[in-house]
Amino acid sequence: MTDSQAGTLLGLDGQVALVTGASRGIGQSIACLLRDLGAKVYGTATSQAGADAIAGELGDGRGLVLDVTDDEQLNNVIATVNAHAGAPTVLVNNAAITRDQLLMRLKDEDWDAVMDTNLRGVMRMTRACLRGMLKARQGRIIGISSVVGYSGNPGQTNYAAAKAGLAGFSRALALEVGARGITVNVVAPGFIDTDMTRALDEAQRDRLIGGIALGRLGKPADVAAAVAFLASPAGAYISGQTIHVNGGMYLT
Ligand code: NAP
Repeated sequence: MTDSQAGTLLGLDGQVALVTGASRGIGQSIACLLRDLGAKVYGTATSQAGADAIAGELGDGRGLVLDVTDDEQLNNVIATVNAHAGAPTVLVNNAAITRDQLLMRLKDEDWDAVMDTNLRGVMRMTRACLRGMLKARQGRIIGISSVVGYSGNPGQTNYAAAKAGLAGFSRALALEVGARGITVNVVAPGFIDTDMTRALDEAQRDRLIGGIALGRLGKPADVAAAVAFLASPAGAYISGQTIHVNGGMYLT
């Protein structure tokens, strides 16, 4: 394969990508890799400071303020991207939260917050972006799930349910929109070294690493690579699937 063939297979020139939760961690890494591959990237954060920070990394893309549970902000983001670059052709639903607690102590509001952000937010973002993709007869929708949506994890019934739900949502949608040239896939990270996992103490981290075949936590870039592959021409014939990026900690 020549360099130019490889560039065509993995390049994203002409694509407009929208990445939620791009201010840090995995989302930031995804946004920067899609930018490097030639896409015009719009990355979101919940604060103006976060949006400004990611904007500085996105060249001719932009950083935008978005809380995925806020309908008005969501509509504004879609309108801004449409006006600035045209409808997104790649959507990465990355934003998510945790509210961990054993079920017996779990408050309804912590269940609702996780469902609202991690699942309803994905549905609403996807529905809003789908209009343009259906018209263009092309699109890549990629959801960031989690290994715990497959393996389970005590203290995370809410998060695991939302992440498993994201996979079911994506399979159903893949069947709805495949005929229009749109693929819908999921990337399920294992334990990745970000703010979300920095909350673990050293003993918990060591125990975790002991259960990972590759003997290390993942890096945000490990997840970004799988997302970029699915977004690129190389991923054109993959839909309704989950790619597990977990260093061999859970084998499906
Ligand atoms: P993170 O470091 O906690 O960052 C979360 C991102 O989501 C931030 O950009 C945050 O924005 C944004 N966000 C939070 N609530 C939001 C809301 N209501 N609306 C819009 N954006 C919101 O997370 P991460 O570790 O990079 O995880 C990224 C994705 O990978 C998530 O879907 C997570 O569930 C999944 N995942 C992570 C791991 C892991 O080990 N880290 C493992 C499996 C799956 P602000 O900066 O403005 O707060």
